[in-house]
Amino acid sequence: MVTILGGGISGLAAAHYAVKFGIRAPKAISLVEAAPEVGGWIKSTIRPDNTLYEHGPRTIRPKGEQGAATLQLVEELGLSKKVKPIRYGHPATVNRLIYVNKQLYKLPSSLSSIFLKIKPFDKPLFLAALRDLSTPKKSCVDESIYDFVARRFGKDIAEYAISPLICGICAGDAKEVSVKFLMKSLFEAEQSHGSVLKGMVAAMFRKEEKPPSMSTLVEVAREQKWNVWSLEGGLQLLPKTMAANLKDDGVTIHLNSPCKSVSFEHGRITVKTNKDEIVSDHLISGLPAWQLAPLLSSQHPELSHLLSCIPFVTVGVVNLKFPRNVLREPAFGFLVPPSQKMPILGIVYDSCCFPTAGDCTVLTVMMGGRFLNEHFGKNLLPQTALHTAIKHAKDILGISVDPCDYNISISEKCIPQYVVGHDERRKKIYDYIKKHKLPISLVGSSYEGVGVNDVIMSSLKAVKRLSATLRS
Ligand SMILES: Cc1cc2nc3c(=O)[nH]c(=O)nc-3n(C[C@H](O)[C@H](O)[C@H](O)COP(=O)(O)OP(=O)(O)OC[C@H]3O[C@@H](n4cnc5c(N)ncnc54)[C@H](O)[C@@H]3O)c2cc1C
Repeated sequence: MVTILGGGISGLAAAHYAVKFGIRAPKAISLVEAAPEVGGWIKSTIRPDNTLYEHGPRTIRPKGEQGAATLQLVEELGLSKKVKPIRYGHPATVNRLIYVNKQLYKLPSSLSSIFLKIKPFDKPLFLAALRDLSTPKKSCVDESIYDFVARRFGKDIAEYAISPLICGICAGDAKEVSVKFLMKSLFEAEQSHGSVLKGMVAAMFRKEEKPPSMSTLVEVAREQKWNVWSLEGGLQLLPKTMAANLKDDGVTIHLNSPCKSVSFEHGRITVKTNKDEIVSDHLISGLPAWQLAPLLSSQHPELSHLLSCIPFVTVGVVNLKFPRNVLREPAFGFLVPPSQKMPILGIVYDSCCFPTAGDCTVLTVMMGGRFLNEHFGKNLLPQTALHTAIKHAKDILGISVDPCDYNISISEKCIPQYVVGHDERRKKIYDYIKKHKLPISLVGSSYEGVGVNDVIMSSLKAVKRLSATLRS
């Protein structure tokens, strides 16, 4: 018996792989979800005229081992025909902007552009590369991404390229987020080769052959040079289809069932929800660390404390629809460096990525994250979020009309922050579980990576490890 906590994408993926790797007998897998539906932060709203608003993730990258695993999952679920790719070369893949000193600037996207002085950068980017080659190595255990990049490539790059990127990835502050964790390859390149560029060149020569893909969809994505993809009808189709397939495979899904307690006794786990008591041999938690922590506090206070130390931030997401095309130039959207002291993190031009009917414009304005308190105090109210979104979208993009529709979601404590030291904290958590022989696997965004791909990969790896243990 395996119990899975949380019906977000990590918990669902864990159940999918558990079925796939044969960890089942009738009624052997139970999934417990607090909400009335599965999906966690993956949520899509579709208006009667087919306008789509994503509350959480909107696009997924196909690249790398993680990207391939997600595409293979999509294929296994029979969703290949629903995939909407954006290929390299599309304006949304080339035009990525930042907003600095009240102006939008295009980030360099071609090799030739690194030799030009492109505002708001002070110097051509190749000079930053030369700086990396001549800067001595600093041995350290971890450092913030901002400090690392400022030291090796210059403050300009840290300020205008990296800080907004971290806002885009995790709504976080580059001055706090760990380089060792979020940009591990760059950190290791300096530590082992003395320079990021030297390390990257060495890695290019070391590059192993791509293993043959087991998935047609992965091959198609490679051939057609997909940059990102989404699903027709919105990304929520992914968790919904997973839940339907899991039910067909005999997995019991308990909705509206918040887990109230978890106890370990004689190698067995008892999970109590508001309705049921489920006893199993193994627990897979897909809960965010801060929500798992209180469930373990009475039996394992040390583990509970380590989990509760992973910080999370709240993000306001406002989707705005305008009745016609209001954008001067198509792009993916823009990000705002925190140094600009503006209340928004950035705006995604959804209708440039995936056009809407009637030539309307759909934008998503993100705000808050690590900077929520600074701009909004303790609470971000929906009406404040809407007002902020409309004001800044209209001011920055020079839009003269009002939106004809909107959708507001305030996602409380939704994105973990991998602050300096995250790697060590993660190791302490895993060591505790190993030392106390707890039959529990931790999956989800709190540990190994924040994107949908990372989360699915964390479940795949956890279930592979579990299946190997059960076989041995
Ligand atoms: C605004 C936003 C935009 C994003 N954009 C992107 C993007 O464009 N691309 C990308 O790749 N990623 C993106 N992400 C990240 C991605 O969406 C998440 O990392 C991922 O969805 C996390 O999945 P999860 O299963 O780990 O956690 P969650 O989605 O948090 O799922 C956890 C589940 O556990 C349930 N739960 C909590 N407590 C209990 C309890 N006591 N008992 C039972 N159930 C419980 C919750 O209801 C929830 O359903 C974005 C995230 C956000 C918030």
